[in-house]
Amino acid sequence: MTTTHLNTPEQILQHTFGYSAFRGPQQAVIETLIGGKDALVLMSTGGGKSLCYQIPALARSGCGIVISPLIALMQDQVEALRAAGVNAACLNSSLNFEQIRHIEAALLQGEMDLLYLAPERLLQPRTLQLLERVTIALFAVDEAHCVSQWGHDFRADYLQLSCLQQRFPQIPRIALTATADKRSRKEITDRLGLQQARQFISSFDRPNICYRIAAKNNPRRQLLQFLRAEHTENSGIIYCLSRKKVENTANWLCQHEFHALPYHAGLPAHTRAQNQRRFLREEGVIIVATIAFGMGIDKPDVRFVVHLDLPKSIEAYYQETGRAGRDGEASTALLLYGLEDVVKLNQMAANSEGSVEYKRQERQRLDAMLGLCEITSCRRYALLRYFDERLPTDCGNCDTCLEPAQSWNASQASTKLLSCIYRTGQRFGITHVIDVLRGGNTEKIRQFNHQQLSTYGIGKDFSAEEWRTIARQLVVRGYLQVNSEAYNALQLTEQCRALLRGEETVHLRRLPKAEARLENRRKHIIIELSGEDQPLWEALRDCRKQLADEHNVPSYIIFSNATLREMVTQHPTTKATLRAISGVGDKKLERFGEAFLSVLTNHPVLKKL
Ligand code: ADP
Ligand code: ZN
Repeated sequence: MTTTHLNTPEQILQHTFGYSAFRGPQQAVIETLIGGKDALVLMSTGGGKSLCYQIPALARSGCGIVISPLIALMQDQVEALRAAGVNAACLNSSLNFEQIRHIEAALLQGEMDLLYLAPERLLQPRTLQLLERVTIALFAVDEAHCVSQWGHDFRADYLQLSCLQQRFPQIPRIALTATADKRSRKEITDRLGLQQARQFISSFDRPNICYRIAAKNNPRRQLLQFLRAEHTENSGIIYCLSRKKVENTANWLCQHEFHALPYHAGLPAHTRAQNQRRFLREEGVIIVATIAFGMGIDKPDVRFVVHLDLPKSIEAYYQETGRAGRDGEASTALLLYGLEDVVKLNQMAANSEGSVEYKRQERQRLDAMLGLCEITSCRRYALLRYFDERLPTDCGNCDTCLEPAQSWNASQASTKLLSCIYRTGQRFGITHVIDVLRGGNTEKIRQFNHQQLSTYGIGKDFSAEEWRTIARQLVVRGYLQVNSEAYNALQLTEQCRALLRGEETVHLRRLPKAEARLENRRKHIIIELSGEDQPLWEALRDCRKQLADEHNVPSYIIFSNATLREMVTQHPTTKATLRAISGVGDKKLERFGEAFLSVLTNHPVLKKL
């Protein structure tokens, strides 16, 4: 760093980043690196991984080299660092020759604090030769799970990063990831040669995210209700399985006055880039996307993630929902799922290319995901358990905690459904079976003479929707299977015998009323500003927006919501008191302090204390 008197980790934390204390293992990680040792950091999203390598890079002599998989991710970090007065840059293919030379010169002159690179860039002989000529503070491998061939973020270039150990044996290395599954951890240590590294494993819990999983009845209506009731002006991500559904959903939301943009691999590159940029820069933009969208989205104030289709595994679900609430503020993950999802994913797994073993594993992951959907206990407990972590108690911030799911003895209803499937010859999909149960008068019923069956009309006591829910749960519990090779016909499994003979009972989950859930949820949203604080809050946000536009950066690069909120509650009116607000470091005070102070002094303190 250019200012040499700031060299202890605490001083850097306070003066450069404006924070008063380290979080979790940050200090221990930082000391490990400053001591010249390697570290492996597994920390949930929003946990504060970046400071773990940024501070030691500033404290040690030389430049910190950060390897990151995506340009967007690097640019965001570099902008944030520059706003805090750190000499940071990224070397990537979007730069012209002049810009590259400029960065290289700064590096050679020892003026660079942090340099971000994509792995393929780092591995070019030219780059490695350049790095051999300069003092390097450390190597940080961000998103280290990209070495994992099992994960969906696999990057072949990451595998070659093991060469750093051979070429730069004296330089400490740190690998970081938020991926919770064990297999990836082992792969990271093995592939990056970090067997000797000190491991820092924090909880993967994301307590600020409220996990909710609901049966899909009328997804559009459910989505609209959710957005209108809880997230009218917020940024969020909505995931769909197909490109077509992405576009239809985005259009439909726009017709309902939401600011929604599509994102999928089939759109022209410039449209994709533009939509992503608007999502990052503007407030209240909803992106509707296939899973192609996500990695590299460091936007801290994503308030909700909705899945309109079932994710393939708990790993994928946790990673996708994890994009909500990086800033630590209350956020929602809502998943809507139905029988058709189960059918579709089953089909995809069956038709996929892989080996028998691969398909078996896919199937297992899907089953675990379905299990999570159907449990009647705390979702978070089950989620973390899947990643070998145990919560001491139920979380109090998931749908089942907020509104305990009722289970009911569904043996009789299940028997009716199973019998009806049996009597119709196990050749039909759910819609027809329900029509028969409810005594419908469809062409298919007449064609197959199904009004003659003993099970015709015996299920009028439940709605079609309720029957679907029952069928779905019976599939998930293994009583029924869906034959994807025969028009998704429902078929009985061996497991049905005991139930049909009346020797076994089955309890199913009954969903709570949607309105009741909302009532409960409100209590869990963190304390909001009171009405009389609103004008100041809005004025501070306007000020932030103006500065952001002026500097051509997203608002959160200027100050986070938490910092603005503290300004409202503390109401500083001098530079010294403004400096005491969390997130206000020396450089930001110098650059933005006056603008915010003038807003603050123009808003007199209203009956505080
Ligand atoms: P991650 O990379 O683990 O997802 P970040 O490094 O982006 O998380 O940090 C998440 C947020 O927490 C950022 O806004 C960051 O500035 C903030 N943060 C990190 N460490 C601290 C700290 N010690 N005190 C206050 N805020 C912190
Ligand atoms: Zn819970």
